[in-house]
Amino acid sequence: MGAIDTLRTASPVGHFIDGRVHAGQSGRTQAVWNPATGTEATQVTLATADEVDAAVQAAARAFPAWADTPAIRRARILNTFLGLLNQRSDELAAIITAEHGKVFSDAQGEVARGIEILEFACGAPQLLKGDFSDQASTGIDNWTLRQPLGVVAGITPFNFPVMVPMWMFPVALACGNTFVLKPSERDPSASLFLADLLREAGLPPGVFNVIQGDKTAVDALLTHDEVKAVSFVGSTPIARYIYETGARHGKRVQALGGAKNHMVVMPDADLDKAVDALVGAAYGSAGERCMAISVAVLVGDVADRLMPLLAERTRQLVIKNGMAPDAEMGPVITRDALERIEGYIAAGKAEGAELVVDGRGHTVPGHEAGFFIGGTLFDRVTPDMRIYREEIFGPVLACVRVNNLGEAIHLVNGHEFGNGVACFTRDGAVAHEFTRRIEVGMVGINVPIPVPMAWQGFGGWKKSLFGDMHAYGEEGVRFYTRQKSVMQRWPEGGAGGAEFAMPSSRQG
Ligand code: NAD
Repeated sequence: MGAIDTLRTASPVGHFIDGRVHAGQSGRTQAVWNPATGTEATQVTLATADEVDAAVQAAARAFPAWADTPAIRRARILNTFLGLLNQRSDELAAIITAEHGKVFSDAQGEVARGIEILEFACGAPQLLKGDFSDQASTGIDNWTLRQPLGVVAGITPFNFPVMVPMWMFPVALACGNTFVLKPSERDPSASLFLADLLREAGLPPGVFNVIQGDKTAVDALLTHDEVKAVSFVGSTPIARYIYETGARHGKRVQALGGAKNHMVVMPDADLDKAVDALVGAAYGSAGERCMAISVAVLVGDVADRLMPLLAERTRQLVIKNGMAPDAEMGPVITRDALERIEGYIAAGKAEGAELVVDGRGHTVPGHEAGFFIGGTLFDRVTPDMRIYREEIFGPVLACVRVNNLGEAIHLVNGHEFGNGVACFTRDGAVAHEFTRRIEVGMVGINVPIPVPMAWQGFGGWKKSLFGDMHAYGEEGVRFYTRQKSVMQRWPEGGAGGAEFAMPSSRQG
Protein backbone atom coordinates (compact mmCIF):
# COMPACT_ATOMS: atom_id res chain seq x y z
CA MET A 1 0.00 0.00 0.00
CA GLY A 2 1.46 3.38 -1.03
CA ALA A 3 1.65 6.46 1.14
CA ILE A 4 -1.41 7.97 -0.47
CA ASP A 5 -3.51 4.84 0.04
CA THR A 6 -2.59 5.01 3.71
CA LEU A 7 -3.72 8.63 3.81
CA ARG A 8 -7.04 7.80 2.22
CA THR A 9 -7.95 4.81 4.28
CA ALA A 10 -7.13 6.57 7.54
CA SER A 11 -10.29 7.57 9.36
CA PRO A 12 -10.82 10.19 10.50
CA VAL A 13 -9.15 12.12 7.67
CA GLY A 14 -6.35 14.02 9.37
CA HIS A 15 -4.19 17.13 9.05
CA PHE A 16 -0.92 17.53 7.17
CA ILE A 17 1.53 19.56 9.26
CA ASP A 18 5.27 20.01 8.76
CA GLY A 19 5.43 17.29 6.10
CA ARG A 20 3.51 14.63 8.06
CA VAL A 21 -0.04 13.44 8.53
CA HIS A 22 -1.51 14.03 11.99
CA ALA A 23 -4.54 12.13 13.17
CA GLY A 24 -6.05 15.07 15.06
CA GLN A 25 -6.39 15.35 18.83
CA SER A 26 -9.61 17.30 19.26
CA GLY A 27 -11.91 14.32 19.65
CA ARG A 28 -14.34 16.21 17.40
CA THR A 29 -15.11 14.61 14.04
CA GLN A 30 -17.72 14.96 11.31
CA ALA A 31 -19.10 12.46 8.80
CA VAL A 32 -17.97 12.59 5.17
CA TRP A 33 -20.64 11.10 2.90
CA ASN A 34 -20.62 9.26 -0.37
CA PRO A 35 -23.47 11.28 -1.91
CA ALA A 36 -24.24 8.67 -4.58
CA THR A 37 -24.91 5.90 -2.08
CA GLY A 38 -26.01 8.08 0.80
CA THR A 39 -23.67 6.19 3.12
CA GLU A 40 -20.98 7.51 5.41
CA ALA A 41 -17.62 7.16 3.63
CA THR A 42 -15.37 8.24 6.46
CA GLN A 43 -15.00 10.82 9.19
CA VAL A 44 -12.91 13.97 9.20
CA THR A 45 -11.20 15.40 12.24
CA LEU A 46 -12.03 18.99 13.22
CA ALA A 47 -9.06 20.99 14.46
CA THR A 48 -8.64 22.87 17.70
CA ALA A 49 -7.05 26.32 17.77
CA ASP A 50 -3.86 24.68 19.10
CA GLU A 51 -3.66 22.40 16.08
CA VAL A 52 -4.12 25.41 13.80
CA ASP A 53 -1.33 27.11 15.71
CA ALA A 54 0.93 24.09 15.14
CA ALA A 55 0.31 24.28 11.38
CA VAL A 56 0.87 28.04 11.27
CA GLN A 57 4.06 27.75 13.35
CA ALA A 58 5.37 25.04 11.01
CA ALA A 59 4.65 27.33 8.06
CA ALA A 60 6.30 30.27 9.82
CA ARG A 61 9.46 28.22 10.50
CA ALA A 62 9.63 27.11 6.87
CA PHE A 63 9.08 30.61 5.48
CA PRO A 64 12.56 32.23 5.62
CA ALA A 65 14.32 29.43 3.72
CA TRP A 66 11.49 29.05 1.19
CA ALA A 67 11.34 32.81 0.57
CA ASP A 68 15.13 32.84 0.04
CA THR A 69 15.01 29.93 -2.40
CA PRO A 70 15.52 31.34 -5.90
CA ALA A 71 12.21 31.52 -7.75
CA ILE A 72 13.47 29.19 -10.46
CA ARG A 73 14.18 26.47 -7.88
CA ARG A 74 10.76 26.92 -6.33
CA ALA A 75 9.34 26.62 -9.85
CA ARG A 76 11.30 23.39 -10.43
CA ILE A 77 9.63 21.77 -7.42
CA LEU A 78 6.23 22.91 -8.67
CA ASN A 79 7.15 21.51 -12.07
CA THR A 80 7.94 18.11 -10.53
CA PHE A 81 4.59 18.31 -8.70
CA LEU A 82 2.97 19.09 -12.06
CA GLY A 83 4.46 15.91 -13.55
CA LEU A 84 3.19 13.80 -10.64
CA LEU A 85 -0.23 15.37 -10.79
CA ASN A 86 -0.50 14.68 -14.51
CA GLN A 87 0.32 11.02 -13.84
CA ARG A 88 -2.12 10.68 -10.96
CA SER A 89 -4.90 13.00 -12.10
CA ASP A 90 -7.52 10.27 -12.61
CA GLU A 91 -6.99 8.95 -9.07
CA LEU A 92 -7.55 12.46 -7.79
CA ALA A 93 -10.66 12.86 -9.95
CA ALA A 94 -12.05 9.60 -8.53
CA ILE A 95 -11.55 10.94 -4.99
CA ILE A 96 -13.50 14.06 -5.97
CA THR A 97 -16.39 12.02 -7.40
CA ALA A 98 -16.47 9.74 -4.35
CA GLU A 99 -16.87 12.59 -1.85
CA HIS A 100 -18.49 15.35 -3.92
CA GLY A 101 -20.66 13.31 -6.28
CA LYS A 102 -19.98 15.19 -9.54
CA VAL A 103 -19.56 13.01 -12.63
CA PHE A 104 -16.07 11.66 -13.25
CA SER A 105 -15.51 13.58 -16.52
CA ASP A 106 -16.39 16.81 -14.69
CA ALA A 107 -13.99 15.90 -11.88
CA GLN A 108 -11.30 15.33 -14.52
CA GLY A 109 -12.09 18.78 -15.90
CA GLU A 110 -11.77 20.27 -12.42
CA VAL A 111 -8.31 18.73 -12.00
CA ALA A 112 -7.31 19.95 -15.47
CA ARG A 113 -8.35 23.50 -14.56
CA GLY A 114 -6.28 23.31 -11.38
CA ILE A 115 -3.31 22.05 -13.36
CA GLU A 116 -3.54 25.10 -15.64
CA ILE A 117 -2.97 27.38 -12.62
CA LEU A 118 0.01 25.25 -11.65
CA GLU A 119 1.41 25.57 -15.18
CA PHE A 120 1.04 29.35 -14.86
CA ALA A 121 2.77 29.32 -11.46
CA CYS A 122 5.71 27.37 -12.92
CA GLY A 123 6.63 30.64 -14.67
CA ALA A 124 7.49 32.14 -11.26
CA PRO A 125 10.77 33.83 -12.28
CA GLN A 126 9.06 35.70 -15.10
CA LEU A 127 6.00 36.52 -12.94
CA LEU A 128 8.19 37.99 -10.20
CA LYS A 129 10.38 40.16 -12.41
CA GLY A 130 10.31 43.72 -11.11
CA ASP A 131 10.79 46.89 -13.08
CA PHE A 132 13.69 49.27 -13.23
CA SER A 133 14.13 52.96 -13.95
CA ASP A 134 17.66 53.75 -14.97
CA GLN A 135 18.80 57.31 -14.12
CA ALA A 136 15.53 58.21 -12.35
CA SER A 137 17.45 61.33 -11.37
CA THR A 138 21.13 62.06 -11.92
CA GLY A 139 23.06 59.02 -10.70
CA ILE A 140 19.95 57.53 -9.08
CA ASP A 141 18.20 54.35 -10.08
CA ASN A 142 14.77 53.31 -8.85
CA TRP A 143 13.42 49.80 -9.07
CA THR A 144 10.64 47.70 -7.63
CA LEU A 145 10.63 44.12 -6.51
CA ARG A 146 7.82 41.98 -5.18
CA GLN A 147 8.46 39.95 -2.04
CA PRO A 148 6.35 37.22 -0.39
CA LEU A 149 4.10 38.01 2.56
CA GLY A 150 4.89 35.10 4.90
CA VAL A 151 2.33 32.52 6.02
CA VAL A 152 -0.85 32.74 3.95
CA ALA A 153 -4.04 30.76 4.43
CA GLY A 154 -6.64 29.39 2.02
CA ILE A 155 -10.19 28.51 3.13
CA THR A 156 -12.11 26.67 0.44
CA PRO A 157 -15.62 25.40 -0.40
CA PHE A 158 -16.89 21.88 -1.02
CA ASN A 159 -17.80 22.32 -4.66
CA PHE A 160 -14.26 22.33 -6.10
CA PRO A 161 -12.08 20.46 -3.59
CA VAL A 162 -9.09 20.52 -5.98
CA MET A 163 -9.53 23.44 -8.38
CA VAL A 164 -10.26 26.15 -5.82
CA PRO A 165 -7.30 25.28 -3.53
CA MET A 166 -5.24 25.27 -6.73
CA TRP A 167 -6.42 28.79 -7.56
CA MET A 168 -4.45 29.69 -4.46
CA PHE A 169 -1.50 27.59 -3.33
CA PRO A 170 0.49 27.19 -6.59
CA VAL A 171 0.68 30.97 -6.99
CA ALA A 172 1.28 31.60 -3.28
CA LEU A 173 4.10 29.02 -3.13
CA ALA A 174 5.65 30.20 -6.41
CA CYS A 175 5.82 33.70 -4.90
CA GLY A 176 7.76 32.38 -1.87
CA ASN A 177 4.99 32.19 0.76
CA THR A 178 4.22 29.21 2.93
CA PHE A 179 0.65 27.98 3.02
CA VAL A 180 -2.02 26.60 5.34
CA LEU A 181 -5.06 25.15 3.55
CA LYS A 182 -8.37 24.71 5.38
CA PRO A 183 -10.43 22.67 2.91
CA SER A 184 -14.14 21.99 3.16
CA GLU A 185 -14.97 19.46 5.84
CA ARG A 186 -17.47 17.89 3.43
CA ASP A 187 -14.87 16.52 0.95
CA PRO A 188 -11.51 16.68 2.70
CA SER A 189 -9.53 13.76 1.21
CA ALA A 190 -8.31 15.46 -1.98
CA SER A 191 -6.34 17.96 0.10
CA LEU A 192 -4.19 15.18 1.59
CA PHE A 193 -3.60 13.67 -1.84
CA LEU A 194 -2.28 17.05 -3.02
CA ALA A 195 -0.14 17.45 0.11
CA ASP A 196 1.42 14.06 -0.37
CA LEU A 197 2.27 14.74 -4.02
CA LEU A 198 3.85 18.06 -3.04
CA ARG A 199 5.96 16.22 -0.47
CA GLU A 200 6.96 13.65 -3.08
CA ALA A 201 7.90 16.48 -5.46
CA GLY A 202 10.46 17.71 -2.92
CA LEU A 203 8.60 20.55 -1.24
CA PRO A 204 10.31 21.16 2.13
CA PRO A 205 8.30 20.29 5.27
CA GLY A 206 6.13 23.14 6.56
CA VAL A 207 5.84 24.95 3.23
CA PHE A 208 2.38 23.46 2.57
CA ASN A 209 0.10 22.38 5.40
CA VAL A 210 -3.50 21.21 5.62
CA ILE A 211 -5.71 21.73 8.61
CA GLN A 212 -9.12 20.04 8.61
CA GLY A 213 -11.88 21.76 10.45
CA ASP A 214 -14.85 24.05 10.77
CA LYS A 215 -15.48 27.54 12.19
CA THR A 216 -13.07 26.92 15.09
CA ALA A 217 -10.20 26.37 12.65
CA VAL A 218 -11.24 29.27 10.43
CA ASP A 219 -11.43 31.66 13.39
CA ALA A 220 -8.02 30.53 14.63
CA LEU A 221 -6.53 31.33 11.20
CA LEU A 222 -8.31 34.68 10.93
CA THR A 223 -6.99 35.86 14.28
CA HIS A 224 -3.48 34.37 14.18
CA ASP A 225 -0.70 37.00 14.17
CA GLU A 226 1.52 34.95 11.87
CA VAL A 227 -1.08 34.67 9.11
CA LYS A 228 -0.49 37.60 6.79
CA ALA A 229 -3.15 37.01 4.15
CA VAL A 230 -6.31 34.96 3.70
CA SER A 231 -7.87 33.76 0.46
CA PHE A 232 -11.43 32.55 0.83
CA VAL A 233 -13.97 31.06 -1.56
CA GLY A 234 -17.44 30.11 -0.36
CA SER A 235 -20.88 31.53 0.31
CA THR A 236 -21.50 35.27 0.60
CA PRO A 237 -22.38 35.51 4.31
CA ILE A 238 -19.18 33.66 5.23
CA ALA A 239 -17.14 35.62 2.66
CA ARG A 240 -18.26 38.87 4.26
CA TYR A 241 -17.43 37.52 7.73
CA ILE A 242 -13.97 36.40 6.59
CA TYR A 243 -13.27 39.74 4.93
CA GLU A 244 -14.35 41.79 7.93
CA THR A 245 -12.71 39.60 10.57
CA GLY A 246 -9.48 39.17 8.62
CA ALA A 247 -9.24 42.91 7.92
CA ARG A 248 -9.89 43.71 11.60
CA HIS A 249 -6.89 41.53 12.40
CA GLY A 250 -4.66 43.34 9.94
CA LYS A 251 -4.67 40.77 7.15
CA ARG A 252 -4.86 41.14 3.42
CA VAL A 253 -8.07 39.35 2.41
CA GLN A 254 -9.69 38.26 -0.82
CA ALA A 255 -13.06 36.60 -0.21
CA LEU A 256 -15.03 35.25 -3.16
CA GLY A 257 -18.71 34.69 -2.44
CA GLY A 258 -21.89 33.30 -3.92
CA ALA A 259 -23.55 33.84 -7.25
CA LYS A 260 -26.75 33.93 -9.26
CA ASN A 261 -25.55 33.83 -12.84
CA HIS A 262 -27.86 34.89 -15.67
CA MET A 263 -27.78 33.81 -19.28
CA VAL A 264 -29.51 36.20 -21.64
CA VAL A 265 -30.87 34.58 -24.80
CA MET A 266 -31.60 37.04 -27.61
CA PRO A 267 -34.24 36.26 -30.27
CA ASP A 268 -31.51 35.83 -32.92
CA ALA A 269 -29.50 33.27 -30.88
CA ASP A 270 -28.75 29.81 -32.27
CA LEU A 271 -31.52 27.96 -30.40
CA ASP A 272 -29.92 24.51 -30.26
CA LYS A 273 -26.65 25.93 -28.98
CA ALA A 274 -28.48 28.05 -26.41
CA VAL A 275 -30.43 24.99 -25.13
CA ASP A 276 -27.25 22.88 -24.92
CA ALA A 277 -25.50 25.72 -23.09
CA LEU A 278 -28.36 26.18 -20.62
CA VAL A 279 -28.69 22.48 -19.84
CA GLY A 280 -24.93 22.00 -19.35
CA ALA A 281 -24.45 25.17 -17.32
CA ALA A 282 -27.58 24.81 -15.16
CA TYR A 283 -27.42 21.09 -14.41
CA GLY A 284 -23.70 20.27 -14.75
CA SER A 285 -22.27 19.35 -11.34
CA ALA A 286 -25.92 19.36 -10.18
CA GLY A 287 -25.85 23.16 -10.26
CA GLU A 288 -23.23 23.22 -7.50
CA ARG A 289 -20.90 25.59 -9.34
CA CYS A 290 -20.31 29.23 -8.57
CA MET A 291 -20.43 29.78 -12.34
CA ALA A 292 -23.57 27.68 -12.88
CA ILE A 293 -26.32 29.40 -14.83
CA SER A 294 -29.32 29.59 -12.52
CA VAL A 295 -31.38 32.22 -14.39
CA ALA A 296 -32.24 32.23 -18.09
CA VAL A 297 -33.36 35.65 -19.31
CA LEU A 298 -35.44 35.03 -22.40
CA VAL A 299 -35.80 38.08 -24.63
CA GLY A 300 -38.82 38.76 -26.85
CA ASP A 301 -40.37 35.75 -28.57
CA VAL A 302 -37.44 33.42 -27.90
CA ALA A 303 -39.14 31.99 -24.79
CA ASP A 304 -42.00 30.38 -26.73
CA ARG A 305 -39.57 28.71 -29.11
CA LEU A 306 -36.97 27.72 -26.50
CA MET A 307 -39.03 26.46 -23.55
CA PRO A 308 -40.34 23.24 -25.18
CA LEU A 309 -36.80 22.24 -26.25
CA LEU A 310 -35.40 23.09 -22.83
CA ALA A 311 -38.10 21.15 -20.99
CA GLU A 312 -37.58 18.08 -23.16
CA ARG A 313 -33.80 18.16 -22.67
CA THR A 314 -34.19 18.68 -18.90
CA ARG A 315 -36.45 15.61 -18.64
CA GLN A 316 -33.89 13.53 -20.56
CA LEU A 317 -30.95 14.25 -18.23
CA VAL A 318 -29.01 11.07 -17.42
CA ILE A 319 -28.73 11.15 -13.62
CA LYS A 320 -26.60 8.45 -12.02
CA ASN A 321 -23.67 7.69 -9.76
CA GLY A 322 -20.97 10.02 -11.07
CA MET A 323 -18.68 7.08 -11.88
CA ALA A 324 -21.16 5.71 -14.46
CA PRO A 325 -19.61 6.49 -17.87
CA ASP A 326 -22.82 7.92 -19.33
CA ALA A 327 -23.83 10.00 -16.30
CA GLU A 328 -24.54 13.67 -17.08
CA MET A 329 -25.43 14.65 -13.54
CA GLY A 330 -24.67 13.10 -10.16
CA PRO A 331 -26.14 13.65 -6.69
CA VAL A 332 -25.89 16.79 -4.56
CA ILE A 333 -23.45 16.94 -1.68
CA THR A 334 -25.57 16.07 1.39
CA ARG A 335 -29.10 15.23 2.47
CA ASP A 336 -29.34 18.73 4.01
CA ALA A 337 -28.51 20.25 0.62
CA LEU A 338 -31.14 18.05 -1.04
CA GLU A 339 -33.80 19.17 1.43
CA ARG A 340 -32.78 22.83 1.04
CA ILE A 341 -33.11 22.61 -2.75
CA GLU A 342 -36.49 20.83 -2.50
CA GLY A 343 -37.60 23.60 -0.16
CA TYR A 344 -36.75 26.21 -2.79
CA ILE A 345 -38.76 24.31 -5.41
CA ALA A 346 -41.78 24.30 -3.09
CA ALA A 347 -41.28 28.03 -2.42
CA GLY A 348 -41.08 28.82 -6.14
CA LYS A 349 -44.32 27.01 -6.80
CA ALA A 350 -46.02 28.70 -3.84
CA GLU A 351 -44.88 32.12 -5.08
CA GLY A 352 -46.54 31.54 -8.45
CA ALA A 353 -43.74 30.49 -10.78
CA GLU A 354 -44.68 27.86 -13.38
CA LEU A 355 -42.99 24.56 -12.48
CA VAL A 356 -42.35 23.04 -15.91
CA VAL A 357 -40.11 20.16 -14.81
CA ASP A 358 -40.12 19.04 -11.16
CA GLY A 359 -36.98 17.15 -10.11
CA ARG A 360 -38.18 16.32 -6.60
CA GLY A 361 -38.39 12.69 -5.61
CA HIS A 362 -35.98 11.49 -8.27
CA THR A 363 -34.51 8.08 -7.46
CA VAL A 364 -31.68 6.19 -9.11
CA PRO A 365 -32.10 2.39 -9.19
CA GLY A 366 -29.58 0.71 -6.90
CA HIS A 367 -28.85 4.08 -5.25
CA GLU A 368 -32.15 4.69 -3.47
CA ALA A 369 -30.49 6.34 -0.47
CA GLY A 370 -28.30 8.65 -2.61
CA PHE A 371 -28.77 12.42 -2.51
CA PHE A 372 -30.32 12.65 -5.99
CA ILE A 373 -32.65 15.25 -7.41
CA GLY A 374 -33.71 15.71 -11.02
CA GLY A 375 -33.16 18.78 -13.15
CA THR A 376 -35.84 21.35 -12.31
CA LEU A 377 -37.17 24.04 -14.63
CA PHE A 378 -39.29 27.07 -13.76
CA ASP A 379 -40.88 29.45 -16.26
CA ARG A 380 -42.41 32.91 -15.64
CA VAL A 381 -40.21 33.63 -12.64
CA THR A 382 -40.28 37.24 -11.45
CA PRO A 383 -37.54 39.24 -9.66
CA ASP A 384 -39.43 39.41 -6.35
CA MET A 385 -39.45 35.60 -5.91
CA ARG A 386 -36.97 33.89 -3.57
CA ILE A 387 -35.99 31.44 -6.31
CA TYR A 388 -34.84 34.48 -8.32
CA ARG A 389 -33.15 36.44 -5.54
CA GLU A 390 -31.35 33.71 -3.59
CA GLU A 391 -28.58 31.30 -4.53
CA ILE A 392 -30.13 27.80 -4.56
CA PHE A 393 -26.92 25.94 -5.44
CA GLY A 394 -28.73 23.00 -6.97
CA PRO A 395 -30.03 21.90 -10.40
CA VAL A 396 -32.82 24.47 -10.60
CA LEU A 397 -33.11 26.81 -13.58
CA ALA A 398 -35.38 29.86 -13.31
CA CYS A 399 -36.55 31.43 -16.58
CA VAL A 400 -37.52 35.10 -16.64
CA ARG A 401 -39.19 36.65 -19.68
CA VAL A 402 -38.30 40.22 -20.76
CA ASN A 403 -39.10 42.34 -23.81
CA ASN A 404 -35.72 43.62 -24.96
CA LEU A 405 -31.98 43.86 -24.33
CA GLY A 406 -32.32 46.98 -22.19
CA GLU A 407 -34.69 45.18 -19.81
CA ALA A 408 -32.36 42.18 -19.69
CA ILE A 409 -29.36 44.32 -18.74
CA HIS A 410 -31.42 46.24 -16.18
CA LEU A 411 -32.53 42.95 -14.60
CA VAL A 412 -29.01 41.50 -14.37
CA ASN A 413 -27.54 44.75 -13.03
CA GLY A 414 -30.21 44.91 -10.34
CA HIS A 415 -29.17 41.60 -8.79
CA GLU A 416 -27.01 41.67 -5.67
CA PHE A 417 -24.57 39.10 -7.09
CA GLY A 418 -22.23 39.79 -10.00
CA ASN A 419 -20.11 36.71 -10.53
CA GLY A 420 -20.68 35.49 -14.10
CA VAL A 421 -23.10 36.24 -16.93
CA ALA A 422 -23.62 35.13 -20.52
CA CYS A 423 -25.35 36.48 -23.60
CA PHE A 424 -26.28 34.32 -26.56
CA THR A 425 -26.70 36.32 -29.76
CA ARG A 426 -25.58 36.46 -33.37
CA ASP A 427 -25.42 40.27 -33.34
CA GLY A 428 -22.01 41.86 -32.73
CA ALA A 429 -23.51 45.20 -31.73
CA VAL A 430 -25.65 43.50 -29.06
CA ALA A 431 -22.57 41.65 -27.78
CA HIS A 432 -20.62 44.91 -27.62
CA GLU A 433 -23.38 46.78 -25.82
CA PHE A 434 -23.96 43.92 -23.39
CA THR A 435 -20.27 43.52 -22.56
CA ARG A 436 -19.83 47.23 -21.82
CA ARG A 437 -22.98 47.82 -19.79
CA ILE A 438 -23.25 44.68 -17.72
CA GLU A 439 -22.16 44.98 -14.07
CA VAL A 440 -20.69 41.53 -13.62
CA GLY A 441 -17.07 40.44 -13.22
CA MET A 442 -16.93 37.64 -15.80
CA VAL A 443 -18.81 37.80 -19.10
CA GLY A 444 -19.42 35.13 -21.75
CA ILE A 445 -20.62 35.88 -25.26
CA ASN A 446 -22.02 32.61 -26.62
CA VAL A 447 -19.98 30.98 -23.80
CA PRO A 448 -22.17 29.85 -20.89
CA ILE A 449 -19.52 29.45 -18.16
CA PRO A 450 -16.85 32.09 -18.79
CA VAL A 451 -14.25 30.88 -16.27
CA PRO A 452 -11.15 32.91 -17.14
CA MET A 453 -7.90 31.19 -18.05
CA ALA A 454 -5.08 30.72 -15.53
CA TRP A 455 -3.22 33.84 -16.62
CA GLN A 456 -6.31 36.11 -16.69
CA GLY A 457 -7.60 36.00 -13.09
CA PHE A 458 -11.01 35.06 -11.66
CA GLY A 459 -13.37 37.27 -9.73
CA GLY A 460 -16.91 38.57 -9.54
CA TRP A 461 -18.33 41.97 -8.65
CA LYS A 462 -20.75 43.18 -5.98
CA LYS A 463 -21.60 40.54 -3.32
CA SER A 464 -19.63 37.90 -5.22
CA LEU A 465 -16.26 39.24 -4.10
CA PHE A 466 -15.05 41.13 -1.04
CA GLY A 467 -11.60 42.64 -1.52
CA ASP A 468 -9.69 44.27 -4.37
CA MET A 469 -7.91 41.50 -6.17
CA HIS A 470 -9.13 38.56 -8.17
CA ALA A 471 -7.88 35.01 -7.72
CA TYR A 472 -4.87 33.69 -9.70
CA GLY A 473 -3.31 35.28 -12.78
CA GLU A 474 -1.33 38.47 -12.29
CA GLU A 475 -3.85 39.61 -9.69
CA GLY A 476 -2.93 36.49 -7.70
CA VAL A 477 0.76 37.34 -7.93
CA ARG A 478 0.02 40.81 -6.64
CA PHE A 479 -2.15 39.45 -3.83
CA TYR A 480 0.57 37.09 -2.59
CA THR A 481 3.43 39.62 -2.77
CA ARG A 482 4.11 43.12 -1.58
CA GLN A 483 5.97 45.69 -3.58
CA LYS A 484 9.24 47.13 -2.39
CA SER A 485 10.65 50.16 -4.13
CA VAL A 486 14.41 50.82 -3.96
CA MET A 487 16.18 54.09 -4.79
CA GLN A 488 19.90 53.79 -5.11
CA ARG A 489 22.76 56.21 -5.54
CA TRP A 490 26.38 55.33 -5.12
CA PRO A 491 28.58 57.89 -3.31
CA GLU A 492 30.29 59.15 -6.49
CA GLY A 493 26.99 60.53 -7.86
CA GLY A 494 24.98 63.60 -6.79
CA ALA A 495 25.81 66.78 -4.95
CA GLY A 496 27.15 66.84 -1.38
CA GLY A 497 25.53 68.55 1.62
CA ALA A 498 22.22 68.18 3.39
CA GLU A 499 19.05 68.63 1.32
CA PHE A 500 16.02 70.08 3.08
CA ALA A 501 13.61 70.33 0.16
CA MET A 502 11.65 67.32 -1.08
CA PRO A 503 14.01 65.56 -3.51
CA SER A 504 12.74 65.46 -7.10
CA SER A 505 14.03 64.70 -10.56
CA ARG A 506 14.34 68.47 -11.25
CA GLN A 507 17.38 68.61 -8.99
CA GLY A 508 20.90 67.29 -9.63
P1 NAD B 1 -19.43 27.76 2.79
O1 NAD B 1 -19.41 29.23 2.82
O2 NAD B 1 -20.44 27.04 3.60
O3 NAD B 1 -18.01 27.15 3.25
C1 NAD B 1 -16.80 27.62 2.70
C2 NAD B 1 -15.71 27.44 3.74
O4 NAD B 1 -16.02 28.25 4.88
C3 NAD B 1 -15.53 26.02 4.23
O5 NAD B 1 -14.15 25.74 4.33
C4 NAD B 1 -16.22 26.02 5.58
O6 NAD B 1 -15.62 25.14 6.49
C5 NAD B 1 -16.03 27.45 6.04
N1 NAD B 1 -17.15 27.91 6.90
C6 NAD B 1 -18.44 27.53 6.81
N2 NAD B 1 -19.18 28.16 7.75
C7 NAD B 1 -18.34 28.94 8.44
C8 NAD B 1 -18.51 29.85 9.53
N3 NAD B 1 -19.70 30.07 10.10
N4 NAD B 1 -17.42 30.50 9.99
C9 NAD B 1 -16.22 30.31 9.43
N5 NAD B 1 -16.01 29.46 8.41
C10 NAD B 1 -17.05 28.79 7.90
O7 NAD B 1 -19.54 27.34 1.24
P2 NAD B 1 -19.77 25.90 0.62
O8 NAD B 1 -21.17 25.48 0.87
O9 NAD B 1 -18.66 25.00 0.99
O10 NAD B 1 -19.58 26.24 -0.94
C11 NAD B 1 -20.61 26.71 -1.75
C12 NAD B 1 -20.58 28.23 -1.85
O11 NAD B 1 -19.33 28.65 -2.37
C13 NAD B 1 -21.63 28.76 -2.82
O12 NAD B 1 -22.19 29.92 -2.26
C14 NAD B 1 -20.81 29.10 -4.06
O13 NAD B 1 -21.35 30.11 -4.88
C15 NAD B 1 -19.54 29.56 -3.45
N6 NAD B 1 -18.44 29.49 -4.38
C16 NAD B 1 -18.01 30.67 -4.92
C17 NAD B 1 -16.98 30.66 -5.84
C18 NAD B 1 -16.49 31.92 -6.46
O14 NAD B 1 -15.51 31.88 -7.15
N7 NAD B 1 -17.11 33.06 -6.22
C19 NAD B 1 -16.38 29.44 -6.21
C20 NAD B 1 -16.85 28.26 -5.62
C21 NAD B 1 -17.88 28.31 -4.69
